[in-house]
Amino acid sequence: MYQLNNYVQGQWLPGDGEGTPQYHAITGELMGTASDKGLDFEAILQYGRKVGGSPLRKMTFQERGLMLKALALYLMDRKDKYYAISAWTGATRADSWVDIEGGIGNVFANASLRRRFPNEPYFVEGETIRLSKENNFTGHHILTPKKGVAVHINAFNFPIWGMLEKIAVNLMAGVPAVVKASEQTSYLTEAMVRDIIDSGILPEGALQLLVGQGRGILDSVGPQDVVTFTGSAETGRKLKAHPSIIDQSVPFNLEADSLNAAILGEDAVPGTPEFDLFIKECRREIITKAGQKCTAVRRIIVPESLLEAVQGALTKALSQTVVGDPSAEGVRMGALINRMQLDRVQQKLTEMMRSTPAVLGNLETLEVVGADKSKGAFLPPFLLLNERPLEVMTSHEQECFGPVSTLMPYRSLEEAIEIVHLGKGSLVSTICTYDRQIQREYVLEAAAWHGRILMLNRHSAKESTGHGSPLATLVHGGPGRAGGGEEMGGMRGVLHYMQRTAIQGHPTDITNVTHQFQVGAEQIETQVHPFKKYFEELQIGETLVTAKHTVAETDIHNFANVSGDHFYAHMDATSLEGTPFTGRVAHGYFILSKAAGLFVDAKKGPVLLNYGLDECRFIKPVYPGSTIGVKLTVKEKVAQEHDFSREGVAAIPRGIVKWVVDVYDETGETVALATILTMVRRKLEDVQ
Ligand code: NAP
Repeated sequence: MYQLNNYVQGQWLPGDGEGTPQYHAITGELMGTASDKGLDFEAILQYGRKVGGSPLRKMTFQERGLMLKALALYLMDRKDKYYAISAWTGATRADSWVDIEGGIGNVFANASLRRRFPNEPYFVEGETIRLSKENNFTGHHILTPKKGVAVHINAFNFPIWGMLEKIAVNLMAGVPAVVKASEQTSYLTEAMVRDIIDSGILPEGALQLLVGQGRGILDSVGPQDVVTFTGSAETGRKLKAHPSIIDQSVPFNLEADSLNAAILGEDAVPGTPEFDLFIKECRREIITKAGQKCTAVRRIIVPESLLEAVQGALTKALSQTVVGDPSAEGVRMGALINRMQLDRVQQKLTEMMRSTPAVLGNLETLEVVGADKSKGAFLPPFLLLNERPLEVMTSHEQECFGPVSTLMPYRSLEEAIEIVHLGKGSLVSTICTYDRQIQREYVLEAAAWHGRILMLNRHSAKESTGHGSPLATLVHGGPGRAGGGEEMGGMRGVLHYMQRTAIQGHPTDITNVTHQFQVGAEQIETQVHPFKKYFEELQIGETLVTAKHTVAETDIHNFANVSGDHFYAHMDATSLEGTPFTGRVAHGYFILSKAAGLFVDAKKGPVLLNYGLDECRFIKPVYPGSTIGVKLTVKEKVAQEHDFSREGVAAIPRGIVKWVVDVYDETGETVALATILTMVRRKLEDVQ
């Protein structure tokens, strides 16, 4: 028998009292207890803010990303240990894969986001906002890490994924975390946190863990903290209304249960690939994790004419599911996490079956392979039937957090959508059809009630990640009953832990703060050509003013021949009536190419290559006789990682330099404005 410890204030500590008993899902054996009673939550949060927050906030996004990558690699090396413990939760190998490798994959995905953020501790968002006529006063938005702690209150069903998908995001933002795992499965979370702490990869204080009930933790949250909650809608609503959350405007991201739907299109009759895909997807959603998934399909909505066919095919597929100890041969569905949960699910099921009877599922006749049915938390798959989905509301109100789903008919697509909406907001739904019209109408009409929609058909199925998988790079969350939250979703998720602040001032002041050159800011005219300089030697605002070139008709003619672009406005002066042009106009790409000809220093130097264009606008037409010149200014620098053990560009110490290319004519007016990117070598002596 173990007594789990909490990791708080730099130590592993047990809570007071006997703690909550933790049971083996398959054998029902009492394994140990977990408690966090008696711990000083105020001091724990304060420790996170002070000890963990300060080093994280100083790190750049690149450093935080590399830290996460190292952590993900470290955890992946130890995954077998987690699989062994995950088996105690009743999970099959496939279920555990989602929790363990899905969770670690999420850390990798967040680590990769470093390439999309600046090499700074903060983020500069969007475009500069021009606020004055003469451009002496502009605005911009910056996001800096909040100076609090992320408090994550997690559900029992994903002890690892639930923690990693959240901490990866707050750590990327530079904010420490306190994870309150569910007391029912915290033994698995604790095993991983032990490894994380032992690794020394995170700064001390960046991660603390509570393994017990955490009751009272919200009393101590403050205005710089962020709370996330994953669990039932009922608990979520209660916690969201906590006085500390309301009084101090603490952001509270609520991820609650939802009654997700899968809809079969009218075209997807038996014999079509879509019919088979639909049956396969619904079966998988019912049995994966024994239905203990917030995204599981709870409502199966099919055309009235196909109800019988779907019921037959799904019943057949589900009845073949072998239930038992996942370590036994042939078992496809494990157990619920403990018998307490089994009782809860049975109670809900009994309630639901009063108005929507089961067409499949019988606990009495359940055969369990490799385990004792009376000791483990086993349940067979259940399929309920709601023949009047617009009148009988149970299926749209009750979540049965087990292998239970309800089948219901619809008469028109409009009605199907109406039925879906009765769930009052979901994390996800699937539309399975090969009819593009049905697909489009469903998505556009149902999107407002969903955080995610999967369009399933014979093409997407080849590589689809499935209805049930939230992805690190896409938003996870949903309106209404689903909690109204949004998490993950790539960069969006990270920004949730940062404060967005509008900054106003002269472009030079904005440049000074953001380290991104703003048009109108002071330029530093360079004596040495910037292409002769290494990455470190270039300064933000450093500007090359080039020689000039007078555009001739032969330029236009030659460029048309080289590029093959003989568009009438460049070639035919007689065709311009009714156009914005008063004569043959030079190609925009000629202007940009000529600009490169003017600013490039041809000799071999630190510039390795041209990396592309971020944005480009042709602002004013250039006619033969106009004289153009270029101001090339260093806008931003992003150092890149290198690896001497690799070949090619990857082994070269380097960074990306973004340049503003301002092409102007003889009147001084800008004719073209672009941001170009070059890859520039770093000095070897600066690289460790
Ligand atoms: P729950 O009973 O609502 O509990 C969720 C978490 O809140 C648990 O860690 C629980 O702690 C904690 N909690 C409850 N009262 C608290 C309080 N007063 N102060 C602090 N913490 C408190 O949900 P669950 O039974 O663990 O999980 C199953 C539910 O989660 C299902 O309804 C499922 O749909 C939902 N879920 C949603 C998502 C999503 O992303 N939307 C993901 C997974 C699960 P204890 O366990 O220690 O009581």
